[in-house]
Amino acid sequence: MTGGAVLGDNDDNTYLADFRNRLGVPGIIDVHTHFMPDPVMRKVWAYFDSAGPLTARTWPIAYRDDEQVRLKTLRGFGVRAFSSLVYPHKPEMAAWLNEWTAEFAERTPDCLHTATFYPEPSAESYVEVALERGARLFKVHIQVGRFHPGDSLLDPVWGMIQDAGVPVLIHCGSGPVAGEFTGPEPVAALLQRFPRLQLIVAHMGAPEYTEFLDLAERYPDVRLDTTMTFTDFFEAEDPFPASERGRLHAFADRIMFGSDFPNIPYTYGHAVYALERLDLGDDWLRKVCYQNAADLFGIE
Ligand SMILES: [Zn+2]
Repeated sequence: MTGGAVLGDNDDNTYLADFRNRLGVPGIIDVHTHFMPDPVMRKVWAYFDSAGPLTARTWPIAYRDDEQVRLKTLRGFGVRAFSSLVYPHKPEMAAWLNEWTAEFAERTPDCLHTATFYPEPSAESYVEVALERGARLFKVHIQVGRFHPGDSLLDPVWGMIQDAGVPVLIHCGSGPVAGEFTGPEPVAALLQRFPRLQLIVAHMGAPEYTEFLDLAERYPDVRLDTTMTFTDFFEAEDPFPASERGRLHAFADRIMFGSDFPNIPYTYGHAVYALERLDLGDDWLRKVCYQNAADLFGIE
């Protein structure tokens, strides 16, 4: 076993193949990956390059390749299913992004069909369209979108999504940098009104790990993704509290692996190794890296 942080791509593939074999899983399911229209992806990369205020520090992108190369790389890691998370930072962008993700899912069968929304009058109708077309996962980014998840323009949207039982992956913690509406309170207010929402809290809610675990305790349909958490990169800034380790076991059925591929400043193997070195056992790893997401999304 080597430390994933220093592994190159070939070594990563070897480590990940060994990891899957040892666990006896058919693959890894990665609920948190980004595929988006090319011009949007390039803007995101330019933003990370400039170390903009939302990134807070140098963030070299490890997998800056063309889309088809990125797909090949991800499959090479043994990833059996993944997502294409998109999110608007302004009005009149979400419907267009949803067109793209629907088309991408059609030509990429191992990618979950995703969609997004923004508080705007048209949200109700384009979310309805996305659900009709078979969206299986929504993404909301509170920090980038700079809106309160309980914005009244979203009332019909949350109602529809709750009734449909479609999960919503929500970046709502105050990491890497706090926003006006980040943190547990706005999400707690939302859940009070829509308690059956299948929320997946990105990055384990970093840095408000405890508060988001508290919410998961109160609401059985709240889950968390591991994206970037426990890696050397996150542990250096927003370490997961040792006092909460025990709850990782308690939530073994509601934590799912995510990577943030391709926008990560370390190798993919390191993200998996960061979970393995927690020493929570093979059962825990099997659930987190495969079974929980397979059950949630009905993946064989
Ligand atoms: Zn992400």
